Amino acid sequence: MIEIEVPLADRSYPVLVGDGARHRLSEVIPSGVRRVAVVSQPSIPVEVDPGVDHRTFAMGEGEAAKNLGTVEDLCRDWARWGLTRGDCVVAVGGGVVTDTAGFAAAVYHRGISVVHVATTLLGQIDAAIGGKTGVNLPEGKNLVGSFWQPSAVLCDTEVLSTLAPREYRNGLGEMAKYAFLGVPDLADLPLDQAVAACVRCKADVVGSDEREAGRRAILNYGHTLGHALETAGSYDLRHGEAVAIGLIYAAEVSRLLGRIDADRVAEHRKVVGAYDLPMTIPPGLDPEELIALFARDKKAVDALTFVLDGPAGVEPVKITDAALLRAAMDAVL
Ligand code: NAD
Repeated sequence: MIEIEVPLADRSYPVLVGDGARHRLSEVIPSGVRRVAVVSQPSIPVEVDPGVDHRTFAMGEGEAAKNLGTVEDLCRDWARWGLTRGDCVVAVGGGVVTDTAGFAAAVYHRGISVVHVATTLLGQIDAAIGGKTGVNLPEGKNLVGSFWQPSAVLCDTEVLSTLAPREYRNGLGEMAKYAFLGVPDLADLPLDQAVAACVRCKADVVGSDEREAGRRAILNYGHTLGHALETAGSYDLRHGEAVAIGLIYAAEVSRLLGRIDADRVAEHRKVVGAYDLPMTIPPGLDPEELIALFARDKKAVDALTFVLDGPAGVEPVKITDAALLRAAMDAVL
C-alpha cells in the first residue's frame, strides 16, 4: 500500500493507494466515532466495512443528482437516524458522490468528519483529494460548496476494474494533465504507482495553496477550453475528454505566445494520444461560442486568464490578444 500525506498542518490526512485499500477503512475512521453514514450509488459495486455501527444512504446518479435537494435529503436522513456531530460520513463513489456527501458532511451539524473511498479513476487522482466539496445549481456547476478536508482518502485500485471503459478514459484525461505538472512517465507505471504519482502532485499543490489563492490554479491546466466544451456540448463529452482537447489547445496557445516550441506541443499530442483521448473539438460546436464561454469560466481570474505551459512550467497567464485565441482554435478543429 502506498501512503501519501496531504500536508495541511493540523488538518493533514493520509491517502492510501493500492489494491484492497478499501479494507483499511476501519483504521482511518477518526477515534470516538460511534456511527458511520455511508453514502453511495446503487450502481457502485463496492462494499465497505467501517468497523462500527453503519448504514448506507443511496443517492442518485450524475450531475443532476449533485444538488441541494440531495444534500437536504442526506442531512434529514442522517438526523432521523441519529448521526451526531461526533460521528462520520464515508463517501463511496466517484466525484459526484464525494463532492455531494463531502458538502453535506461540511454543513451537517456545522461540519462532521468525512472519509472518501474514491471508486473512479478521476475521483482517485483528483476529485477526492484536496477538500473542495460542492453541488450544482440550475444556474451552473459547483456554484455552492465549501472547502472541507476529509480525515482520510482511500484509493482502492482494485475497484477500478468494474468502471465502464468511458469512465476509465475520463480519468485518463486528468492523468494526462499531470504529465505537464511535473509528473514524469506515467504511462509506463503500474496503475497504483501512476495513481499515487498523481495524488502526490495534487497533495503537494493543495498543501501549498489550499484555497486556490495562487498555485492551485495550475490544476486547471486544460480546463478553460475543457469547461467551455462541456457547457457548449451539454456534457456530451466526459470531463476528462474535454480536458484532453483543452490540453492540446492550451499548448497551441502557448506556442503562439512563444512560451513553448513545436516539440513541446508534439509532446502534448503524444501524451494525450497515448491514452487514446480526443484531440479535436466535436463537429457542430462553434469556436466563437467557445471563446465567448472562456469569460464565464469561474476558474479564470478574469476573462482572459489562461493556465499555460512555459519555460517556468505551467502557470496562470493573462492573455490580451483575442485573435490569438481564435488562431489556436484551428489546431483543434
Ligand atoms: P461520477 O461520480 O459520476 O462516476 C461516474 C460513473 O461511474 C457513475 O455512474 C458511478 O455510479 C459509476 N461508478 C463509480 N465507481 C464505480 C465502480 N468502481 N465501478 C462501476 N461503476 C462505478 O463521475 P466522476 O468522473 O468520478 O466525477 C465527476 C464529478 O467530480 C464532477 O461532478 C466534477 O465536478 C467532480 N470533480 C470534483 C473535483 C474536486 O476537486 N472536488 C475535481 C474534479 C472533478
